[in-house]
Amino acid sequence: MSLIELDAVAKSWGSTTALQSMNLRIEPGSFCVLLGPSGCGKSTTLRIIAGLESPTSGSVRIDGQDVTQLPPARRGIAMVFQNYALFPHLSVAQNIGFGLAVRKVPKAEAAQRVAQAAELLGLAPLLERRPAQLSGGQQQRVALGRALVAQARVCLMDEPLSNLDAQLRQEMRTELRELQQRLGLTVVYVTHDQAEAMSMADQVVLLHQGRVEQCAPPRDVYAAP
Ligand code: ADP
Ligand code: ADP
Repeated sequence: MSLIELDAVAKSWGSTTALQSMNLRIEPGSFCVLLGPSGCGKSTTLRIIAGLESPTSGSVRIDGQDVTQLPPARRGIAMVFQNYALFPHLSVAQNIGFGLAVRKVPKAEAAQRVAQAAELLGLAPLLERRPAQLSGGQQQRVALGRALVAQARVCLMDEPLSNLDAQLRQEMRTELRELQQRLGLTVVYVTHDQAEAMSMADQVVLLHQGRVEQCAPPRDVYAAP
């Protein structure tokens, strides 16, 4: 059994079809990249895996369980977006620990998990700063930290590096990939950037008009857009 299994998933809104008959298998601990042009269905796929949207038909299972049947807190999914979604009035520590505070994780344990994530991400000296006092790369790390402390089974990322300048984006690709391997995270990563997909993925899922056109390791991907 794969960790994430989509079977014949379709999604439409009225006459707009975002996904048609999508099958997908994602293995635990792998880095899967959904690649394709704007409008091909990447974000919809992520939102369906997260259980934020229900498929019109088909099934989505994580670890064998139907995502739509699980309450949000038990899905074990963290999401990282391109705009970071940090709270400007909260410190770095509070931003990383926000979900833990909401879920009433005991303070001592929350503080320990926040400190651990901060250490891992090189944010330890910055815990008391506000997001506005951080660089783009540091803000990106805070968003990652929030996903890490949630100890999610799956981390979904929607173009998380697209707001960074070219050099920082390059550095963060390597950093993110190292972190993912070190922690054994399962990542589903959305991008329209072919070079990014090729340099990061274990498995590239090439989408075209709501269908999986190819699904292969980077070296075996042919005729990418
Ligand atoms: P991508 O992430 O690859 O750019 P999306 O998954 O966002 O593509 O969108 C796929 C298609 O579904 C597009 O045609 C888009 O306009 C449409 N779509 C996405 N979300 C909605 C929505 N909430 N209502 C109607 N159409 C939508
Ligand atoms: P509360 O508002 O409940 O008193 P805070 O807003 O101070 O809690 O903190 C929110 C989250 O951030 C908590 O999980 C807390 O453990 C964590 N946190 C706050 N400051 C630090 C810090 N300096 N180092 C590590 N974790 C911190």
